[in-house]
Amino acid sequence: MKSLTDLTFDNRFARLGDAFSTEVLPEPIAEPRLVIASTSALALLDLDPAEAEEPEFAELFSGHKLWENAEPRAMVYSGHQFGSYNPRLGDGRGLLLGEVLNNAGEHWDLHLKGAGQTPYSRMGDGRAVLRSSIREFLASEALHALGIPSNRALCVTASSTPVWREKQERAAMLLRLAPSHVRFGHFEYFYYTKQTEQLKQLGEHVLSCHFPHCLQQPEPYPAFFREVVERNAELIAYWQAYGFCHGVMNTDNMSILGITFDYGPYAFLDDFDANHICNHSDDSGRYSFSNQVPVAHWNLCALAQALTPFISVEVLRETLNLFLPLYQAHYLDLMRRRLGLSQADENDMALVERLLQLMQDSPVDYTRFFRELGDSAPSVALKRLREDFIDLSGFDAWSADYQARSAAEGASQAERQSRMHAVNPRYILRNYLAQLAIDAAEQGDYSEVRRLHAVLSKPFEEQPGMERYAERPPEWGKRLEISCSS
Ligand code: AMP
Ligand code: MG
Repeated sequence: MKSLTDLTFDNRFARLGDAFSTEVLPEPIAEPRLVIASTSALALLDLDPAEAEEPEFAELFSGHKLWENAEPRAMVYSGHQFGSYNPRLGDGRGLLLGEVLNNAGEHWDLHLKGAGQTPYSRMGDGRAVLRSSIREFLASEALHALGIPSNRALCVTASSTPVWREKQERAAMLLRLAPSHVRFGHFEYFYYTKQTEQLKQLGEHVLSCHFPHCLQQPEPYPAFFREVVERNAELIAYWQAYGFCHGVMNTDNMSILGITFDYGPYAFLDDFDANHICNHSDDSGRYSFSNQVPVAHWNLCALAQALTPFISVEVLRETLNLFLPLYQAHYLDLMRRRLGLSQADENDMALVERLLQLMQDSPVDYTRFFRELGDSAPSVALKRLREDFIDLSGFDAWSADYQARSAAEGASQAERQSRMHAVNPRYILRNYLAQLAIDAAEQGDYSEVRRLHAVLSKPFEEQPGMERYAERPPEWGKRLEISCSS
């Protein structure tokens, strides 16, 4: 274990130089107070959980203090936002403080969000509010606990610094961890500004730091792009299988590592709704739940364009064509497991689609359905679940097919339950749960954020006394409009 001041920095991205990022110091927020820290994220930096209690901790993560070897920099990137190219984005309110090299030899970017203005702030104030910082913290750690690739979150610090959104709020800072914060938009920026040398430098940096195995391949760049496509296919399959709606799938919010990133007005589905739009400024539903699949492909096409100096158009096209079949295979695999099925059958996709249609028509709570399905033997579970469906004859027909399919596998109920409970969470980050925790935190009470985080860090385990976190959301909770300002 290390102490807070002992971190070893190896700032590889900073060394790329001024074409890639600009040196900026964090602007402190007043009267910093630690809202929450993640013990498992602290462990990634070899930090003892007790370090979070040190006064220095809140100072370091609120811009008041800096490690000697940190080199805070704002990264430049661009990206396609809602389908239109925005030539200049960048870290408008976040700073890459540096890359920590841990005892296991891993590098972790320390990225401080809400750290003040940078050359990329455009009209923004460089700040993040407490509400959105808590949402991003909870989601990062909750997705990770579910096994969904995500950046991590180390801590949130609150302050008395006022910021203006729809109303006056308080500034906060979020410390994010990821092996890299390079986005699709980084490649787009150097491609569209015709900085060919820098584009090459970026490619080499990403390959050597994050895809070193691709350098062993006869053609490293095609191998790299193929892996980005594969990772994204898997990531989106997780989102669709677990009902996660990102809400702002702009190419500047897509990580080159294929991890969930830049959480904004996201939502986990309560009732299943393929057409759910969680971002209230997304008028056309470009980023609706079911559109996440074609949009991910679209985003990969935008990245492919920026890689044309390295990879032939023919190879890029062939690789892009892998996305959909790879996605479908991962998705089907996850859904089969969620249904407690371990063998493949050619009718499985139809079985899943029929179920989702029945859920959509009813509506049915997406998370609870799968958990309850595993709670008892199929005939017993289905009898109870039937009450939630409107199309009873459709549900009965589905139930009969599912039971036959399940019986043919011959697993005992104990076996089936342990398999299903290992993939079907009892607890999920519902928007209303986050909102209740935020309401308390805005009054200075951080206990609910901490409790919710603790519950969500073991989403598959029964947690006696925490049953209310697994309940159906109240009606007001289903209709919550999450502000897009952050
Ligand atoms: P986002 O919608 O959070 O992905 O942000 C899109 C772009 O706007 C990024 O370049 C952000 O850094 C920038 N941005 C968002 N909010 C602010 C803010 N309050 N101040 C400065 N820049 C911001
Ligand atoms: Mg963003």
